[in-house]
Amino acid sequence: ARGLFTAALLWSLTGMAQIPHKTIRQRVDSVMQLMTLEEKIGQMNQYNGDWEATGPITKEGDKQDQIRRGRLGSMLNVTGVEHTRQLQGIAMSSRLKIPLLFGQDIIHGYRTTFPIPLGEAASWDLEAIRGASRVAAREVAAAGVHWTFAPMVDIARDPRWGRVMEGAGEDPYLGSCIARARVQGFQGRQLGDIDAVMACAKHYAGYGAAIGGRDYNSVDMSLRTLWEVYLPPFRAAAEAGAATFMSSFNDLNGIPATGNAYLLRDILKGQWKFNGFVVSDWGAVGEMINHGYAKDNKQAALEAATAGCDMDMESRSYINNLATLVREGKIKIELIDDAVRRILTKKFELGLFDDPYRFCNSQRAAEQWNNTENLKTAQEMAEKSIVLLKNDNQLLPLSGQTKTIALIGPLIKSGRENLGFWSYQWPDDSERIVSPWAGIQKKAGSTTRLLYAKGCGITDTSRAGFAEAIEAARQADVVIMNVGEAPDFTGEAKSRSNIHLPGIQEDLVRAIRETGKPLIVLISAGRPLVFNYTADHADAILYTWWLGTEAGNAIANVLFGGYNPSGKLPISFPRTEGQIPIYYNHFSTGRPARNDSDVNYVSAYIDLPNDPRYPFGYGLSYTRFVYSDITLSAPSFQPGGTLTATVTVTNAGSFDGRETVQWYIRDLVGSVVRPVKELKGFEQVDLKAGESKKVTLTVDVDKLRFYNDKLQHIYEPGEFRLFVGGNSRDTKEIGFTLK
Ligand code: BGC
Repeated sequence: ARGLFTAALLWSLTGMAQIPHKTIRQRVDSVMQLMTLEEKIGQMNQYNGDWEATGPITKEGDKQDQIRRGRLGSMLNVTGVEHTRQLQGIAMSSRLKIPLLFGQDIIHGYRTTFPIPLGEAASWDLEAIRGASRVAAREVAAAGVHWTFAPMVDIARDPRWGRVMEGAGEDPYLGSCIARARVQGFQGRQLGDIDAVMACAKHYAGYGAAIGGRDYNSVDMSLRTLWEVYLPPFRAAAEAGAATFMSSFNDLNGIPATGNAYLLRDILKGQWKFNGFVVSDWGAVGEMINHGYAKDNKQAALEAATAGCDMDMESRSYINNLATLVREGKIKIELIDDAVRRILTKKFELGLFDDPYRFCNSQRAAEQWNNTENLKTAQEMAEKSIVLLKNDNQLLPLSGQTKTIALIGPLIKSGRENLGFWSYQWPDDSERIVSPWAGIQKKAGSTTRLLYAKGCGITDTSRAGFAEAIEAARQADVVIMNVGEAPDFTGEAKSRSNIHLPGIQEDLVRAIRETGKPLIVLISAGRPLVFNYTADHADAILYTWWLGTEAGNAIANVLFGGYNPSGKLPISFPRTEGQIPIYYNHFSTGRPARNDSDVNYVSAYIDLPNDPRYPFGYGLSYTRFVYSDITLSAPSFQPGGTLTATVTVTNAGSFDGRETVQWYIRDLVGSVVRPVKELKGFEQVDLKAGESKKVTLTVDVDKLRFYNDKLQHIYEPGEFRLFVGGNSRDTKEIGFTLK
């Protein structure tokens, strides 16, 4: 009878949890009242699933049992409608039927692959970036997934770091705008919509500043730099409503981020009032043992849970130790309750308590599978991501009349490579992914003859293929080469000390250059590479990153003028590794170099120009933009007021085009040293050939704020310079005063 009574009570209480007119808070409370300590801790536990897209579940034996016993809150890498449905079914056989959350790394697309995030960032097109994340969310939400571990919003000033490909580059302002756009794209109108997935701002915090660019390395920086440079995109993601955060692998100034109460409790959950939940990075709770911060998994669990990490990804430290820690009085139950409440709240917001299978929908998945709209969005995003680095004598765009084109290089026929790191392989990918070769073939039409020679492989040391490539070049009117990295040269755990164009590819460029034929080079890579010979000697260079499924169509459309390139570098390109880190928003020293060749007792190398090969914000167009008449509404303003700067931008060339107008500010004298330039605004303008437009920036004190030595976010009266231009180097400027 007693059993019956409990069952009835449980039924009515879980029933209560289903009553929609209650607030989510009440519904969460009603579930939590029923939960044992073990079940609560189960919610804080996440396991890896199976990588298989279909087929029976074979690898989760013990995991299935734990799901049944309510010891698991979430899984990652469970792919496909059937598989998620099966596992959710097991959760529905548990005592409280709390649905599982399924998470996955949907970094730049799921079925349709978009450009790598660094490539998308080069578009500076927030609407397009939002749209790309929207498509990814729609595709993966239909396949049963509720949660993407993206966006990565780590600022990266070091292209040796393999994960530079996954973020938005070096600038906190641009990075914040893109963080916001990506969160909005993934989460759509609101969580609970059938095509919205939870975003996860990662890796909190400082991960991109790994010493020496070596992945997972320590991070040691002043708190001022942390606040000024590395935290803004996280804050923007939190403000945009990111449902979750991921704590990073690294230690920050000696405290692992996953056990870092300053980052998680004080800043994120305290000052920023973040009400989502924090998941650790993979195994990061347990890795505090390797850091030398915890002596065993029990202490690791204590440190991480106390610091504010709500969910343990794969280290099993929580599931094996938290209950004991609570019973021993080392962790208060309120702290566990807070974590569980945060996690359950998201499950309610996603609508999973109402229908745990609502995201597993074969019909929706099928609609998304070969969706031509998605492919179109991917091609547009890819076109906008391409950066034109050089175009001597207006070699580009190619005319449709070009008779013979030689297509040379290890990547010109690349297929799957175009997806880059953090992408998914599907069985029919080889037909789906458009190689540069295929794209050019389609675009060039039947009157153009295409010749092909590989020349060499990416890491080859043999020149055996050069002769054939030279011969092809000799027969052609124009040569298009596609060189670059292998796609797995960048990504997680892919840091490199040498970021030159690999192998003998620059020798191949030289050999082809020596034929005297007009030479266009496409460079595919996940990071800024060093390619000094090519930079000096090619006629035209397009930086094409990894552009995704539609790579070849996008490249061809740009080559033949269907899209006039508009991309701008989101990160400075060094001349060589020894210059790293080189970023535009650095401080001035007491002995600043006045020009690029100034080396006498100034802050510079004596064996290298001082500037980067290509500055932040750089990128050409087939047309030419001229900036003139920079004016201010007034020479000064007061706190509370504003000032409007205006510049005229003219398309002085013969193609219609898009320019990204960039505004930078320098605070000339401060109570702490201020950067020589900081991006404070940008606007994209479409200008017809010959057309002019006025572009404005409104300056208020918020644009002048910085963190002082007490970490107060203040502004100071004084003199400022305002710069405007099409990149961070070539700018017009004007002074103003804050009274
Ligand atoms: C990466 C994360 C990723 C996680 C899950 C980790 O190794 O650092 O970015 O989300 O794995 O795949």
